[in-house]
Amino acid sequence: MPDSTNPDTTVRTPARGRYRFREYHVTTVPDPVALPTLEAVCVTGEEHNCGATSGTLHTPDELTRWIAGHCATTGHGVYEQTARTILRAEPGAWQ
Ligand SMILES: [Zn+2]
Repeated sequence: MPDSTNPDTTVRTPARGRYRFREYHVTTVPDPVALPTLEAVCVTGEEHNCGATSGTLHTPDELTRWIAGHCATTGHGVYEQTARTILRAEPGAWQ
């Protein structure tokens, strides 16, 4: 039994204002003003990806249209989509 002889070091007092970030309430609701950012990259290819990108778009329809156009001209069928959304952090009551 190598331990249980020194309870003073194993029982710690609660943190005293060190972890203040817990007092922040971070919303996960997208900013209603900011449009989400969508981008598709063509990853079709065996030795290396095609790499064509749609550029920054703001609606799924635009993304679909770009993919349809790229697919129609190249026959490429595998894409990777990236979506970015702006979130807002709201400070809680500091104590
Ligand atoms: Zn492609």
